[in-house]
Amino acid sequence: MINNNYEGYNLKGTILRLERSSIYDGDGYRTVVFMKGCPLRCQWCSTPESQNYRIEEVKGNRYGKIMTVEEVLQEVRKDIPFYFHSGGGMTVSGGELLSQPEYVRCLLTRARWEAIDTAIETTLYGSWEAAEPILQVSNTVFADLKFTDDEKHREYCGVSNKLILENLKKAGTMNADYKLIIRTPLIPGINDSEAELGSIGRFCAQLTNLDYLQLLPYHRLGSDTYRKLGRPYPMKDLRTPSAEHMDWCQNIIGKYVKTVI
Ligand code: SF4
Repeated sequence: MINNNYEGYNLKGTILRLERSSIYDGDGYRTVVFMKGCPLRCQWCSTPESQNYRIEEVKGNRYGKIMTVEEVLQEVRKDIPFYFHSGGGMTVSGGELLSQPEYVRCLLTRARWEAIDTAIETTLYGSWEAAEPILQVSNTVFADLKFTDDEKHREYCGVSNKLILENLKKAGTMNADYKLIIRTPLIPGINDSEAELGSIGRFCAQLTNLDYLQLLPYHRLGSDTYRKLGRPYPMKDLRTPSAEHMDWCQNIIGKYVKTVI
């Protein structure tokens, strides 16, 4: 029987949706919990419906719902048989999960207590006081790194990256037992120059906890959602980088980082 007395049992969060996935969000079969709310505005964002903190109703579509920690876990527990055979578990994603840090900490803590593998996908844009306890209850941390250049980060993501770089450095060098994976989306003509990639590589070289760096090719998966939301899609003219260009980028970062995929 499930104990109904743990920390955060009745805590309410704003969830975009829950998805079942087995490719991009951690080892094995995953149940992905997408949180609402993100302080960034990346121009290539593929989940623009996750950015606003509040629940939205646009043209008959509703984005977001309130769920308690226990209500989310009730859904997650249904997938436990799949985790067992695949080595999977629960992944908390966004939006930016540090927008609802107390909720996420309680959700991950309880999942770990129930022996469910935990992963997070984060930009680390938040206070270290909020981020650190969340990292401590995560088995795998996927952290975004889009630019080392602050001006470009402001221009294309809407906020400074100072806090992100500070937190990444702490997360990448602290005494921890999680697997740290840096993810860099490659946006053609924007962050894929030799200078920017070299700078990302040099920054990551100092992260002693780093497992590997993953390059993600730009794609247009969010474009249909922008249309449904009635918002312009800022990156509509960009093309997905070729396999040859991905290899070239991989080789540049590979001068500094042992494993790049
Ligand atoms: S951090 Fe993620 S959710 Fe937030 S705007 Fe950027 S791509 Fe979208």
